[in-house]
Amino acid sequence: MLGTFQVPSTIIVGGGARREVAAQAQRLGARRVLLVTDAGVVKLGVAAEIAALLDEAGIAVAVLDSVQPDPTDRNVADGLALLRSQRCEALIALGGGSPIDAAKAIAVLSKNAEPLAQYIGYHKIPQPGLPLIAMPTTAGTGSEVSRAAVITDTQRDIKMMMLSAHLLPAAALVDYELTMSMPPGLTAAVGVDTMTHGIEAYVSRRAHGLTDPIALSCVHLVARHLRTVFSEPHNKEARAGMMLAACQGGMAFSNSSVCLVHGMSRPIGAIFHVAHGLSNAVLLPAVTRFSIPAAVERYAVIARTLGCCRADASDQEAAEALPAGLEKLNADLQLPRLRACRGVDQARFEDVVEKMAADAMASGSPQNNPRIPTAAEIVKLYREAW
Ligand SMILES: [Zn+2]
Repeated sequence: MLGTFQVPSTIIVGGGARREVAAQAQRLGARRVLLVTDAGVVKLGVAAEIAALLDEAGIAVAVLDSVQPDPTDRNVADGLALLRSQRCEALIALGGGSPIDAAKAIAVLSKNAEPLAQYIGYHKIPQPGLPLIAMPTTAGTGSEVSRAAVITDTQRDIKMMMLSAHLLPAAALVDYELTMSMPPGLTAAVGVDTMTHGIEAYVSRRAHGLTDPIALSCVHLVARHLRTVFSEPHNKEARAGMMLAACQGGMAFSNSSVCLVHGMSRPIGAIFHVAHGLSNAVLLPAVTRFSIPAAVERYAVIARTLGCCRADASDQEAAEALPAGLEKLNADLQLPRLRACRGVDQARFEDVVEKMAADAMASGSPQNNPRIPTAAEIVKLYREAW
């Protein structure tokens, strides 16, 4: 099997990377840009800081600040209308995965026909969009370096997953200073999302020699820094470590694919609006337990990297210790079980669990899992995570 590795051609990492935004916009030849962000980032004053940096360089800025968590086709339509009316030549995404994914979709539709739904799946987007500079403000999704985007279809209540080289940002500015004010709950949820990217990228059937070392480095950084950053939010070294982990997780999964956890996680987000990182966290232990028999060696490496087995454990023993280690991490980070997540109720869960399993299968991600489940097995796993 061939391995492909595609990442943004420019990635700038480190404290203060955000100040390169105007230079990068100029490199891309943009005199007018659309800044895609959300209300939370505006409130923190970060959007104003970035707009001022662009303004000082003589670049006109139009701002879309209405992107919601789990961004929707409507957010994308609003952005596209603004981009056209202001004749923007490039986009800047500032925020967590939601503004970055929304900006990717807006950029694509600026040069490709609507509707977006025709591009669901792998490599369906015909033309590159306008260039995008991605600036994450959470250490989580890795969307700044990935060729994937997820947009909610508000008519059908599904998350549209798209993967294409045309979704890659032209540049990523990875500045941990933008994450210093993340509250602990968000830090924990997006941190487990990052770890899930590292784990799934490493156990994926599409993993290859360029993704493996990056995926493992991601898991290693999470092992070293996630608990610290949760209990010491102002620890710069730990914030920098998690930001790097998120970026590496994005690079790894974007090129080897996510698997069953993400496949099952998206329907929970689409139906119950549970945050992406949290829905991964509640599924990860059960899905790992299910998947281990098909990839014992790989899960053993993960267990050793996370330090959740004895040093002299055999591969089998190390792998078997992993689900409990993941459950303990969730508990240490005060992440709830599925039944305790806000917005989730048992009657509705029972109503939709079969649809969620069908949607998960249809997304294609479960087919990259080391152990490929049936729809009935997915239903069982949802119940185990409950
Ligand atoms: Zn994710």
